[in-house]
Amino acid sequence: MTSLKTKVIHGGISGDATTGAVSVPVFHASTFKQKTLGGQVLYDYARSGNPTREALEKLIAELEGGIRGFAFATGMAGIHAVLSIFNADDHILFTDDLYGGTFRLVTKVMSKIGLEYDFIDLTQLDQIESKIRPNTKAIYLETPSNPLLKIVDIETVSKIAKSHGLLTIADNTFASPYFQNPLTLGADIVLHSATKYLGGHSDVVSGLVTTNSEELADAIYLNQNSIGAVLGPDDSWLVQRGIKTLALRMEAHAANAAKIADFLVSNEKVEKVYYPGLASHPGHEIALKQMSGFGGMISFELKDDSKVKTFVESLNIFTLAESLGGVESLIEVPAIMTHASIPKEQREASGIKDGLIRVSVGIEDVKDLLDDLESAFEMI
Ligand SMILES: *Cc1c(COP(=O)(O)O)cnc(C)c1O
Repeated sequence: MTSLKTKVIHGGISGDATTGAVSVPVFHASTFKQKTLGGQVLYDYARSGNPTREALEKLIAELEGGIRGFAFATGMAGIHAVLSIFNADDHILFTDDLYGGTFRLVTKVMSKIGLEYDFIDLTQLDQIESKIRPNTKAIYLETPSNPLLKIVDIETVSKIAKSHGLLTIADNTFASPYFQNPLTLGADIVLHSATKYLGGHSDVVSGLVTTNSEELADAIYLNQNSIGAVLGPDDSWLVQRGIKTLALRMEAHAANAAKIADFLVSNEKVEKVYYPGLASHPGHEIALKQMSGFGGMISFELKDDSKVKTFVESLNIFTLAESLGGVESLIEVPAIMTHASIPKEQREASGIKDGLIRVSVGIEDVKDLLDDLESAFEMI
């Protein structure tokens, strides 16, 4: 089984060996019978392991080329478990336009227990080494990044990291495993908010993590089991159900996004369009090299900042909402919504202007989406 299109359907633990059910059963059990005292068991207690969750954990590992996977109650819980493998006074280099929730976790929570950090523009490869300190332990990247869709060269960053003995951690939420596999490009840990493309239907929050190192897998498992923010069996099942159509959905998201990006570029009310599929995007060449598709996320700036509110409120099909990666098209204003927790000066320094609009292009008929945008542009 080599194609991702097949793996999304048959990977992990496909169905149920006991009954022949083609769908993995939802095991609502907190504890499991032990046949002998002190004997070996597959499962003992559901925080430590649950068969429905395990099927999903095996699946994400297979999709990303990892050796073990871990499913968490949210993406943030997964990120927390990963960052918790580090010690007080360890230093991590983070990409500068980091997901807002990760920024908050690092600066407000992990900082209290002594994790040190710097935020840098990881697209500026020549500046990375000067930021590495004796206590630096990892480089943490997101690509495409949120919300500016910056493309970080995973292979080169991983090489720089390795040459200094650092780990590379990649948040692969925006690309999904269908378009990009950071482990095969040299990263050590890949994480996802499965709330987004993996779940795909805006009906579940979840986080997935995978790695290709036994040692890291043991460390992450220790944190998953000790902190305990595991994904429940119903949600584990929902995410697996979502992943079955990942290939179809990602193709549709990317095809629609390409058309919408072109439409925005040619619109005179638009100042700037951020989409890695555009030849004008500064990361386009790297995206071509490391991604098999450009994804469904687009950001753009209106020429007239003051029209942002009217514009987003005039849309009918695009829903004004946070989050992304579902079948339905969503639109949001990062400075007011998803990235409001980042101080304004830092937001602006990373290029997230107040007038920036982020679109998660859904899989509706693209003509309806274009008509909806067109009529909102007529309102401003
Ligand atoms: C949503 C998101 C997260 C956090 O995931 P939750 O499931 O919301 O906890 C992390 N990284 C990125 C890139 C995201 O989009």
